[in-house]
Amino acid sequence: MEYLIPFNKPYITGLENINISKILNTGKLAGNGEFTKKCQNYFEGKYGFNKCLLTTSCTDALEMASILIDINVGDEVILPSYTFVSSANPFLLRGAKLKFIDSKSLHPSMDEELIESQINEKTKAILIVHYAGTACNMDLIMKIANKYNLFVIEDAAQAIDNYFIYPNGNKKPLGSFGHLAAFSFHETKNIISGEGGLLVINDKKLSDRAETIWEKGTNRNAFFKGKVDKYNWVDIGSSFLPSELIAGFLFAQLCNIDKIQKKRIEQWQYYYNGLKKWAFDNNILIPIIPNYSTNNAHIFYLVFQEESTRDEVINKLKEEKIMSVFHYLSLHNSPYFKNLHDGRILKNSDKFSSSLLRLPLYYELEKKHQDKIIEIIKK
Ligand SMILES: *Cc1c(COP(=O)(O)O)cnc(C)c1O
Repeated sequence: MEYLIPFNKPYITGLENINISKILNTGKLAGNGEFTKKCQNYFEGKYGFNKCLLTTSCTDALEMASILIDINVGDEVILPSYTFVSSANPFLLRGAKLKFIDSKSLHPSMDEELIESQINEKTKAILIVHYAGTACNMDLIMKIANKYNLFVIEDAAQAIDNYFIYPNGNKKPLGSFGHLAAFSFHETKNIISGEGGLLVINDKKLSDRAETIWEKGTNRNAFFKGKVDKYNWVDIGSSFLPSELIAGFLFAQLCNIDKIQKKRIEQWQYYYNGLKKWAFDNNILIPIIPNYSTNNAHIFYLVFQEESTRDEVINKLKEEKIMSVFHYLSLHNSPYFKNLHDGRILKNSDKFSSSLLRLPLYYELEKKHQDKIIEIIKK
């Protein structure tokens, strides 16, 4: 079916073509070239991340993270159930046991208060997801991780250009807290390259090994920097680096990040203002941004009381050729994992699975479209 208002429409700034033409003229198409460095420097410079490596996806960046913290058979990893499979697979691939945590009652993110109860001597890492780009309580999570000496990995796939706010008002970017963090530039995210990702290495002890794993387990990068005189196989690894064409596309987007973010935040706020009274009167949940988070407007969602109401709204919007979509299905209840789960009931995660609805949100979405969506939902 042809939608009048799709759920997502990738925004092309116009600079992508220009960058890609430049790359075609140089004839250097493989990864780790000029535009890859430009993108990595951008993140290191703007957000103060220690070291950044572009990857072919956020999933890949998380696979690198799993290798880097040496996940082994029997290690346990704590993570939310309400998330994408890519938060879980990288650890399973290396033999970890997954301990899923429920969402908060009023927010789809993992309930930080439940983490400590799942920690034991086998726990190696906490994977956190900043759902809808909204910060988790990083102050609390880092305290717990430090107390038990655990690695923290941020799945910051949705969290570009967003910040945690300390009680004194100081801000720190998401992606700068964990030992490692991963961002996504999939076409559904705020800043895109079709497919693409970034691994942030905040723990300096992991920086050199990250480059090796990124380069298929060779010390190719150290060789090019003149640090070693032969280029050899020194560790495990894989092909995690994207081509320059992807990096050129991504850099065009990064050059426009302020414009893109400003627009998305306006659109998000327009939904919020248009729906907040109605939502309050009808016992429907709209996004809550805690006082410790800024808002990067990645997702605007509604949470209904009943699955049937949610599905009815999807259908009403569809009749008007407007596409709205639900989101994750709890991982602990998935066909793949349900027999591996320890049986704890994660009721909030299941509630968001059955009753959360995401509204269209993309750069070219117009106010008149939003007015129409708001009107149909209220009816
Ligand atoms: C999009 C997303 C991913 C996967 O990103 P890819 O770049 O497609 O691999 C992982 N985790 C979360 C929370 C996401 O939203």
